[in-house]
Amino acid sequence: MTRSAEQTMQFLFAIRSRGVTDKRVLTAMEKVDRGFFVKGLFADRAYEDMPLPIGSGQTISQPSVVGMMTQALQVTARDTVLEIGTGSGYQAAILSHLARRVYTVERYKSLVMSSKQIFEFLKTTNIISIYADGSRGLPDQAPFDKIILTAAAEDPPGPLLSQLKIGGVMVLPVGQSDSVQSLIKVIRTKSGYDYEDIRDVRFVPLVEGLGKDD
Ligand code: SAH
Repeated sequence: MTRSAEQTMQFLFAIRSRGVTDKRVLTAMEKVDRGFFVKGLFADRAYEDMPLPIGSGQTISQPSVVGMMTQALQVTARDTVLEIGTGSGYQAAILSHLARRVYTVERYKSLVMSSKQIFEFLKTTNIISIYADGSRGLPDQAPFDKIILTAAAEDPPGPLLSQLKIGGVMVLPVGQSDSVQSLIKVIRTKSGYDYEDIRDVRFVPLVEGLGKDD
């Protein structure tokens, strides 16, 4: 499914009215057609501002939340970004327009395969997809300028905090999986970490180990 000009306009209007105002982020979200990342039953709802199922019990996040997180991450064209929780690949595709390089990690092989196919179809060359448990981060590629988690942990995982550059930013949902979580921004300083609350959110949990595909 591909979008009409009117759908694109309404989509951008909806996310802007929910607080996504950064021009670079809006331009990246205009470029990436969410219709490619939502398949099957829910395909005709791809341009609505809601999370949708993507298989393996996971969800593609709500577009306004994707925009909010991307905006909070303050990605520049020189950044190497680490994303934990590839899912459909939608967030990674948006980041690929803003960053130099995006490493994205997913624990379900089927989601790694399907997102990789979309990245190839879109001729995206700066996304590196990795099938692994992202709660340990990617020690071999660290440190990162920016880190984004799209699954909720109870606390920011220690390995990820240590893989953030000084001056780097990490955005993640924290809290119990069955309740409202907080989206937070962590900035690594020379002497430690600064924390800032952004808003309440609801995400699927960050789960340790590799996933079993259905
Ligand atoms: N960013 C995604 C949203 C994905 S939902 C998108 O744009 O569509 C969160 C994803 O995190 C799920 O696919 C889930 O399988 C994955 N996940 C959860 N725990 C993980 C872990 N420890 N390592 C890697 N991926 C994980």
